Amino acid sequence: MAVQRTFSILKPDATERNLTGAINALIEKAGLRIVAQKRIRMTREQAETFYAVHKERPFFGELVDFMISGPVVVQVLEGENAVLNYRDVMGATDPSKAADGTIRKLHAKSIGENSVHGSDAPETAAIEIAQFFSGNEIVG
Ligand code: ATP
Ligand code: MG
Repeated sequence: MAVQRTFSILKPDATERNLTGAINALIEKAGLRIVAQKRIRMTREQAETFYAVHKERPFFGELVDFMISGPVVVQVLEGENAVLNYRDVMGATDPSKAADGTIRKLHAKSIGENSVHGSDAPETAAIEIAQFFSGNEIVG
């Protein structure tokens, strides 16, 4: 399996509780390298574009409001099988169903305020990375 990149967001519930370092430690312990990272405040338009795939879902408005409610940390992670590896490290969307030791089991507050985002496929990773980073901001 070749080295791959995935896109990560530490969501507002995580930055609010000062968990950036604790979550980054779990990411690095899993063998993923943080090759780009910045703390930003998403605009409503950015959040709506980012989660456009969910725009017909009943929780869309709540999700967008949450993602712009505080700062987020956007990241590019690199490693072997990075997309699936990070999904494993994150755990299930609903923290009550997440496996022991995962970021969401350890830190998420609820199915909505679930601390992290990770891309679901290499193709979406490329699109999501390009939404937030230019090439010269990613240093592998
Ligand atoms: P993400 O895309 O953020 O990595 P995911 O892939 O595990 O999460 P998705 O099904 O893509 O889950 O949902 C996107 C996000 O929408 C979830 O992470 C969560 O913040 C929110 N969400 C999903 N389902 C619900 C729900 N039933 N109620 C409230 N919010 C939800
Ligand atoms: Mg998703």
